[in-house]
Amino acid sequence: MSRLDRQKDKDAQFETSKGIKTISSFDQMKLKEDLLRGIYAYNFEKPSAIQQRAIMPITTGRDVIAQAQSGTGKTGTLGISILQRIDTGLRETQALVLSPTRELAVQTQKVISSLGEYMRVHCHACIGGTKMGSDIQKLEFGQHIVSGTPGRVYDMLKRRVLRSRNIKMLVLDEADQLLDRGFKDQIYDIYRHLPPTTQVVLLSATLPHDVLDLTQKFMTEPVRILVKRDELTLEGISQFFVNVEKDDWKFETLCDLYDSLTITQAVIFCNTRAKVDWLARQMEDANFTVSSMHGEMLQKERDGVMQKFRQGASRVLITTDIWARGIDVQQVSLVINYDMCANRENYIHRIGRSGRFGRKGVAINFVTSEDIKLLRDIEQYYGTQIDEMPMNVTDLI
Ligand code: ADP
Repeated sequence: MSRLDRQKDKDAQFETSKGIKTISSFDQMKLKEDLLRGIYAYNFEKPSAIQQRAIMPITTGRDVIAQAQSGTGKTGTLGISILQRIDTGLRETQALVLSPTRELAVQTQKVISSLGEYMRVHCHACIGGTKMGSDIQKLEFGQHIVSGTPGRVYDMLKRRVLRSRNIKMLVLDEADQLLDRGFKDQIYDIYRHLPPTTQVVLLSATLPHDVLDLTQKFMTEPVRILVKRDELTLEGISQFFVNVEKDDWKFETLCDLYDSLTITQAVIFCNTRAKVDWLARQMEDANFTVSSMHGEMLQKERDGVMQKFRQGASRVLITTDIWARGIDVQQVSLVINYDMCANRENYIHRIGRSGRFGRKGVAINFVTSEDIKLLRDIEQYYGTQIDEMPMNVTDLI
């Protein structure tokens, strides 16, 4: 078996469960009036493919595993489903959403709060790097929904500040990453603190086989909803490579591209935090305006960078894979892999930061001579085409 075949074999092979209905309008989903109002006010007119299939099973209380390409509305799916399930008359935590990064946890909290605008919902982001005191205060006041990262959430559960008695839903967003080695034990610890009947929902763009195996331990007859891998490619995102040959020549190539980066907004991925710092410094020294973010920065600083980027005040963001998962900034139309990603799964997550919800996007991979093989591997794996970057790439952005 070739390396590629082995990798394919490791991927999930499940099919969408039988009997899953597709419901093509929010009106037909039997949602609460004030939730429906929030959905339309948020400018969702029609449910996306994953929303059409997953919201109903989740709202009826089934355990659900949903796999769909990034940018297709999974956050909306979980937000709407949770809001439908909770009783706002009871100011106790009823749903817990876990995300692998703080930024994603905050983004999800914001989406839920917006969709639930007319429901008087209390949704709290419970993440590391923030003041413990204010977390405790908010949780003691009572929050219907908590969206957090595993470490802080577990801490709050242990202190019994986050009261679990009324939790009836646990949602794992970017589940493959949450159930990967780093977080796995913490997820189990959290799960053990929840009532045994808690409904479990898993969402991710990629779900390797070993992760799915794990889920059997805490899911009951889950409904499976899959967007097949072939469909899970990168429709709408034009992918290119630039053969830079050597690492040293990447910088110049990036400077040449800078004007294209700022047409809308761009995200540049490097493989290490040190490289992010280095590249940001180099760009600034060469008088280019960029911002940068990675996991070693203080949370306050990270928040500031995110806010500026979301508002469009900064247009070029240099970052690590911390940004690859789930972050949604609609204006991002260009992603650059300054370093090719070492891990195939993350490729789709990284470039999925552009072309959100059917918009057009462009991804440019800087490849050294050693990376060419990796590039071809990715092409084959996702059944997609990555061409040499054309001169008129700007026209595509
Ligand atoms: P995912 O979680 O799958 O990566 P998101 O839920 O973040 O995707 O959705 C991607 C983008 O599409 C977001 O900007 C979101 O607001 C938008 N979106 C999601 N669902 C809908 C919908 N039904 N109608 C219009 N826009 C939507």
